[in-house]
Amino acid sequence: MGRWRVAPDGGRPEGRDCAHVDGIGPAPEVGEPLCRECARRGWAWVGLRLCLTCGHLGCCDSSRGAHATAHYESTGHPIARCLGTGCARPGRRWAWCYADEVYLWPR
Ligand SMILES: [Zn+2]
Ligand SMILES: [Zn+2]
Ligand SMILES: [Zn+2]
Repeated sequence: MGRWRVAPDGGRPEGRDCAHVDGIGPAPEVGEPLCRECARRGWAWVGLRLCLTCGHLGCCDSSRGAHATAHYESTGHPIARCLGTGCARPGRRWAWCYADEVYLWPR
């Protein structure tokens, strides 16, 4: 039993499944909440995404660097969880599967 499930509409009205949820374990430890790639360049970021495979923290697609997506593209790690200010939905954290392009909710 995975810890995540595809959100009711999955962000995709036609419906879509995620082949990766069952392989995702407990969320890795979160270190300092920052995007290191941005911090190194002196860039600001909007929101952060935590890679649930390795714990990498990168900035969201609304940020200049989009380093979370860059992390997926370079590693293939499929699922990242929202963190901090990007977590807008009240009372519910969400994750995003880059490979299947669906939103996931915690069980
Ligand atoms: Zn998936
Ligand atoms: Zn960044
Ligand atoms: Zn990763």
